Amino acid sequence: MDQMFYQTLLNSVTDGIYFVDCDRRITYWNKAAERLSGYTATEMIGKLCSENLLRHEDENGSSLCGKRCPLTATLGDGEERHRNVFMRHKLGHKVPVTVQASPMLDSNGNIVGAVEVFAENSESINIRREMELLRKEVLTDELTGIGNRRYAEITMRNLDHAMEQNLAPFGVLFIDIDDFKTVNDTFGHYIGDQVIRMVAQTLMKSLRFLDVICRWGGEEFVVFVPNTTLENLASMAERLRRLVQDSCIIHKSAKISVTASFGGAISQHNEYSISVLSRADKQLYHCKKNGRNCTVIDNSSEEKIACPNA
Ligand code: GH3
Ligand code: MG
Ligand code: MG
Repeated sequence: MDQMFYQTLLNSVTDGIYFVDCDRRITYWNKAAERLSGYTATEMIGKLCSENLLRHEDENGSSLCGKRCPLTATLGDGEERHRNVFMRHKLGHKVPVTVQASPMLDSNGNIVGAVEVFAENSESINIRREMELLRKEVLTDELTGIGNRRYAEITMRNLDHAMEQNLAPFGVLFIDIDDFKTVNDTFGHYIGDQVIRMVAQTLMKSLRFLDVICRWGGEEFVVFVPNTTLENLASMAERLRRLVQDSCIIHKSAKISVTASFGGAISQHNEYSISVLSRADKQLYHCKKNGRNCTVIDNSSEEKIACPNA
């Protein structure tokens, strides 16, 4: 097989692979090594391993370059070695990797170099996955499966950062289920919970990918709508209102449905999310006063639009 075949093969594996000659000069650096380390083949080929760009260290932070280098030891005795080490990524952070150093022999059995195969340490990958799951759990509302209050607050911080960089305006909808006490009083708390979940799911399923919906508390929800206009937010609120009105759960073969009120606001220049949320909340109050099951969107000059019951 020709060299091209081996090049393609080495570049298609997910493990980082590099070769060194007997002087510990890097002679080959595959694509996965580029991805895992941040260094390109052009940057690495010809460099001496002892220049210590990768700064292999043990778990205590002690350098493995020099006498404790697995590659050097393998070049010396021809033995294969496995170690869990930390490698420094080009961007500066440390990556936990498992390394395997093996000798390269010529046809007479003489050591002519060594190869190091390295992969991200699977234990640390599992820890990262667990952290991700934990993060999801911590930020998800247990009853409804949408974001919880903490997630709403994180989203608000992100929107504030975006606002400080003069990105497009965002909208906020504050939503409250109408006369929800009656639902609890009539059907009990358990059915009340099912209704809250049904409304949350109805809202969530009809949002765009970048919109964020969270349960603010009780039977109240907030929707954050990045990159939108007053008109879009108003028509979105109306669409959601109708969807909630037309949704139901079945209990003892009877349909239970609720309506909700929607207050909304669009961010103004230099306005923080807490202020937009507070304006949306004010509009919700107007909805309730205007008979509920309606949408009121504020444009900060206190002008109200789209209120069918007004
Ligand atoms: P309004 O139209 O003015 O909003 O009337 P409302 O009856 O919905 O009034 P309010 O928003 O003040 O009441 C909300 C009720 O929701 C009170 C509380 O008992 C109930 N509630 C809050 N959290 C939960 C929950 O997790 N499950 C259930 N089943 N009920 C809840
Ligand atoms: Mg309420
Ligand atoms: Mg309510």
